[in-house]
Amino acid sequence: MCGIVGASGVHGAARIASLGLYALQHRGQEAAGISAVDDNGVARVQKVTGQIADGIDDEVLRGLPGDTALGHTRYSTAGGGGLVNAQPIVVRYHQGDMALVHNGNITNARTLRAELVEEGAIFQGTIDSEVIVHLIARSRAGNPDEEIREALSRLEGAFSVLITIGDTMYAARDARGFRPLVLGRLNGGMVAASETCALDLVGARFHCEVPPGAVIRIRGTEVTELEPLPPAPRQAPCIFELIYFARPDSNVFGKSVDRARRAFGRQLAREHPADADCVFSVPDSSNSAALGFAEESGIPLELGLIRNHYVGRTFIHPEQIGRDFKVRVKYNPVREVIEGKRVIVVDDSLVRGTTSKGLISLIRDAGAREVHFRVASPPVTNPCFYGIDMPTKQELIGARMAVGDIARHLNVDSLGYLSLEGMHQVVSEQGPFCDACFSGDYTAPLVDLGSGLAAASTC
Ligand code: 5GP
Ligand code: MG
Repeated sequence: MCGIVGASGVHGAARIASLGLYALQHRGQEAAGISAVDDNGVARVQKVTGQIADGIDDEVLRGLPGDTALGHTRYSTAGGGGLVNAQPIVVRYHQGDMALVHNGNITNARTLRAELVEEGAIFQGTIDSEVIVHLIARSRAGNPDEEIREALSRLEGAFSVLITIGDTMYAARDARGFRPLVLGRLNGGMVAASETCALDLVGARFHCEVPPGAVIRIRGTEVTELEPLPPAPRQAPCIFELIYFARPDSNVFGKSVDRARRAFGRQLAREHPADADCVFSVPDSSNSAALGFAEESGIPLELGLIRNHYVGRTFIHPEQIGRDFKVRVKYNPVREVIEGKRVIVVDDSLVRGTTSKGLISLIRDAGAREVHFRVASPPVTNPCFYGIDMPTKQELIGARMAVGDIARHLNVDSLGYLSLEGMHQVVSEQGPFCDACFSGDYTAPLVDLGSGLAAASTC
């Protein structure tokens, strides 16, 4: 998964992009990058491994002049990390300098790449996004608008992209609309971002969500919707953005993430009530869902777990601390809240089950009398091929074990997952959503899997 941001017709665009990346840092912490286009149409780029604060400072921003800029924060879901796979991708081609940032996972990238390599294309890294710049550069459509449309029409799967060609910015989303993308207005220019929390930080006013399948050209405040991409049989925004990925202060797919999570929590409380003394979240991803659970059940919300926000890349040998090291370094239980109590722990999702198992043993060690584990989403039973970092099916606890066995494995007194129907009911006004990770219903063709080609490194 990744976060993308763009600014057009805005003085000091690279600075705006860098601020936007701070707001989107949760969408990826492996690499960050910014490109900017100066008055002569020359694009420059700087990338760093790690987070935006790790290397994009004032001096770097001074070296990125211009009123048009893109930014990217990367969380690779497979294959190579490192700067070679970081974005923006910047190339020079027959229309001038082109830069691109991409969020999503192109499910026919390997197939397209094999074709391009056959025709003589040279690739720098292993990332699926690189295919897009090749397709644009090889298009014979004659003008950038058509080249972009033609290239994007060949892609399957998930892509929210921002592209600059010279100082013109383009914003586009795949026809199913898997990943979010919004536009805002700022000081006579436009800002595009994965989530509205980035618009808030830079002081931009929300303008619109880029509709699924739309290709939008932006020059200053001039926003032109070009001919859309071929339509999909149905739209399929990713429900996991609302469950886990997006920030609760964002509006995603026209829905407040906070409101959606609270409603998941309330529905969960109705479906799986428990007699208990307190409810708490596994901070921060399930805070809103735990609040919803507490509201609905009338059981007081407590802060039972404290999360350390500074563990980032601290390196301590796990064997120095023991088995639950990874969990212990991140969370510590508040004994005063937990000791002698019957507690309800609400998490947003159960993926591998390793975090939860460690957490529950910490909570038991802190003296909990009963532990009732509640998950504000259905069992994850299938990997995501559209950009969420989900392991293989064998690693997914929900695919390997029945709910009763998971409860025994986690050592909880009871376990309850939000039902698939309950989840959809909560967001029925915005739906339908892609729920492939819960249902196995893959809406966009998985071309590379069919052709036996492993998934490319994605974003
Ligand atoms: P697990 O069951 O894999 O041990 O951990 C579940 C936890 O991981 C949940 O608290 C959830 O917030 C978090 N989580 C869910 N999806 C992802 C993801 O794609 N990446 C990361 N890093 N964490 C995730
Ligand atoms: Mg979590």
